[in-house]
Order: sequence, then structure tokens, then C-alpha cells
Amino acid sequence: MSWESSAHYYRLINEGVRARLGGVASAPLILHSFDFGQIAAMQAAGEWTALRQSLAAAARGLHAAGAEGLLIATNTMHKLADAVTEAAPIPLLHIADPLANALVEAGHRRVGLMGTRFTMNETFYAERLAAKGLEVILPQAADREIIDRVIYDELCAGVVRDESRAAYSAAIGEMAGRGADAVALACTEIMMLVGEGDSCLPIFDTTALHAAAAVDFVGS
Ligand code: GLU
Repeated sequence: MSWESSAHYYRLINEGVRARLGGVASAPLILHSFDFGQIAAMQAAGEWTALRQSLAAAARGLHAAGAEGLLIATNTMHKLADAVTEAAPIPLLHIADPLANALVEAGHRRVGLMGTRFTMNETFYAERLAAKGLEVILPQAADREIIDRVIYDELCAGVVRDESRAAYSAAIGEMAGRGADAVALACTEIMMLVGEGDSCLPIFDTTALHAAAAVDFVGS
């Protein structure tokens, strides 16, 4: 969610499997693609119980269809990761784990967190990073509002604007000023907007890291 980032996942996972296995190898994938219009409206309305049921039903469906592992291809919906884990007896590759591992391996300690208002303002995501010894630095409140609005109004709609990139770059700079030594793109669409050249800090992109974890799972 949204399909804008799911399309990147699909390419990254298949490219990674082909690079690992050679020839015309590709990843055996079963995709449950939600109508993100409905999902975003339910998020905004706070209908998390119904969203839990939707994610759990999708997990059961994927398991019944033969899936041996699960990815939730969005950071935000990891708010409901426990519902997915409970629904199907197969591993969930949690998106924050490859992120935390990459940050720790690169020697970072204080990470700026950019994502939706749910990912930034609630504890479900930062706690997972803190459990690996990382200190989370959030954008200041005004930047959090801009970052969230750009995700839902622009990136998830396939719109990439220079003004928004400049706002993200400034937010990263502001977090660097408060001691962040890396920035987590903890929304799967931000990689459409921000690259290394737009950031004064090293960037850690959850779309690429999560896809790489899927490649490891398929190739193991
Ligand atoms: N793809 C986004 C994320 O990684 C936001 C969309 C959503 O709310 O799921 O959090």
C-alpha cells in the first residue's frame, strides 16, 4: 500500500531473486492488493478494528493460497502486525527489522524517522527500533504534518513535486541539527521523492531493505 510502492517492491524482489539465482529466475509471489482509497479513508476515520479484520483476512487468504511467508508492504500498517501474525502460521517479515539491522550494522545510533503521522506519532514503530538500541528522532511537528500530507495527497497518488522534495530535505537537515546521524524513509513511497542527493544524512529506505529481506527469504 499504495500500489505506487508495491510496484517498486515487485520489481526489486524479482530483480534480487534473478541476481541471486541467475537466468530467468523470479520470485514466486502471491499478491493481495487492497484498494488503497478505502484503506486511507478507514485510517483517517480511525477504523482500526475493521482494518485489523481486513489484514487478518488477507493473511489467511494468502496462507490458504500457498504463501510460506508474509510481507506487509507498508510501514504504517505494521501497526496491525500482530493481527497478521495471529491470522496465519507463517513468518511475517517485519519491515522495521531489516531497517534496524542495517542501521546498527552501519554504526548509526540516532535515526530520524520519516513516515505517515501514524508511524511518526505513535509508538508501534519507534519501539521496534528502540528495542535494537536505536534512538529515534522525529521531525518537528510542522514538518510531520507536511511529510504526512505529501505521502497521502501526492506520493500515493503518483505525484512527485520538487517543492515537496525541498521540504523533505529541509526536514532532514533540521533533524541532523538535533543530532540525527541517519534518516529512515519509513514510508514505502518516500523513495519516489528523496534520494541520497537530497539528504545531508545517509538514507535508509524501507522499500529496498524490506524487498531485500524478501529476497533473502525466497533464496534461503
Ligand atoms: N506506504 C506508506 C507506508 O509505508 C503509507 C501508506 C499507508 O498508510 O499504508 O507507511
